[in-house]
Amino acid sequence: MIKKHDHLNTEVLVVGAGASGIPAAIAAARAGAKVVLLEEDPYVGGAPADMWVTHLCGGPLTGIVHELETRLKKNCLKRRHRIGPHGRFFLPEAFMREEVQMLAEAGVIVLTGARVVDVLMSQAGYRPRLKGVCVATHRKPLTIRTQMTVDATGTGAVAIMAGCRAMYGQESKRDFRETSALPTRSPTVQDCTWMYISQQLREGPCFDMMKLEWVKLGVLVNGLGWFHNDPEKARELNPRIFLHWGCRVKCDDTRDPLAVARAQMTALKLMEHDHALLRENGYAVYLAPHIGVRESNRIVGEHIITESDLRSGVLPPDTIALGTYGLDIWGRNDLPAGSSHVPAYGIPYRALVPKDADGLLLAGKAISGTHIAMSAYRVMPIAGSIGQAAGVAAALCAKRKQQPRQTDPKDIQQVLRRKDQHLQLNLGL
Ligand SMILES: Cc1cc2nc3c(=O)[nH]c(=O)nc-3n(C[C@H](O)[C@H](O)[C@H](O)COP(=O)(O)OP(=O)(O)OC[C@H]3O[C@@H](n4cnc5c(N)ncnc54)[C@H](O)[C@@H]3O)c2cc1C
Repeated sequence: MIKKHDHLNTEVLVVGAGASGIPAAIAAARAGAKVVLLEEDPYVGGAPADMWVTHLCGGPLTGIVHELETRLKKNCLKRRHRIGPHGRFFLPEAFMREEVQMLAEAGVIVLTGARVVDVLMSQAGYRPRLKGVCVATHRKPLTIRTQMTVDATGTGAVAIMAGCRAMYGQESKRDFRETSALPTRSPTVQDCTWMYISQQLREGPCFDMMKLEWVKLGVLVNGLGWFHNDPEKARELNPRIFLHWGCRVKCDDTRDPLAVARAQMTALKLMEHDHALLRENGYAVYLAPHIGVRESNRIVGEHIITESDLRSGVLPPDTIALGTYGLDIWGRNDLPAGSSHVPAYGIPYRALVPKDADGLLLAGKAISGTHIAMSAYRVMPIAGSIGQAAGVAAALCAKRKQQPRQTDPKDIQQVLRRKDQHLQLNLGL
């Protein structure tokens, strides 16, 4: 049906069908809004589908992310995949299958192979307001008009097109007085990692992954955890399928396609030795479609989350998602041992509200925060909770014909609590 139209109208538009965009679309649809979800890839999933980040780490696993995890486990058990106490590694197709199903059940209209290339703006009030987007498809261009848009692109792509200010690279200590910040600004973002899966093709003893050059970066064993933590047990358990953090590489600028292509070439070379070893020992090596890019733009919002916020141990009154994952800055080896730990923290609604545009909310890793803070809340369970909150907020704004900054966070919190989203700390998380 949709393919016949080159114009669409919706109440809520979510751009990016990844870790935050999928919960955002489901939450908005469940809150009663008509929702369109756009994805530039030919399939939904985001990082689990295109970078094979198929391990839910950190927490809390709550709300829609918890539903997803429950369905993933059930699906895997049905198909006799081993899932143990560390069974948070699932195959990319399992994520895609469950997410497609959940989106369909919620009544979300999904468009894949649809890249947002421009925005429609109006200047009714104090700020420019996003009214819609232009989409490049493999057929004819499509225009979508909407009351509210959620940017869940992981890069802030839509917000930047709408004229919002973005942050990129590392802030200095002077900028936000963060304990772990560098003395001066740096354009370097977190390292990239190309994920892959190896699979033993025939029954037999497990290959000793400790012989791999990059094993310490992470080889995940279902039913156990990390291979290098207990190599003997891993070999004994041998699930015959492993998730590998391929290698780590620097990328000069993750926003520049040339620099990303260069990083990919470097990564392929670095992994050559490990891949040859695995193949010689009877394993197939499946490389993720994209190199894993951890960090890109972050959009300036009404509040910029800092390391001090995460360390404070105090939840902001407008908390719309919780985080229990510590600082994890890939590429910084100079931080004192133990400094990555932070107490549970709250993500304030203000960090989802871009400073420079109306009609728009942010979700996922590109919300408003510093390089250091983002290294913690970027993981999928937290990105997903942020997405769910953005979806609820977008639906409320659309129904009430309000702008995000006019919406009372208490109303968002009320809906989220009713949807099993944990927003306080006394839950034994
Ligand atoms: C190598 C690596 C390892 C990681 N390890 C873990 C881990 O073990 N556990 C964990 O929980 N997290 C991990 N993470 C972090 C996590 O995967 C991401 O931070 C998280 O997926 C971010 O969610 P997001 O919704 O912001 O972006 P994404 O999940 O990347 O989704 C963004 C989506 O938007 C789409 N998009 C972008 N631009 C457009 C456009 N213009 N039009 C239409 N669609 C667009 C993209 O194609 C993509 O599908 C890892 C990340 C990397 C790179």
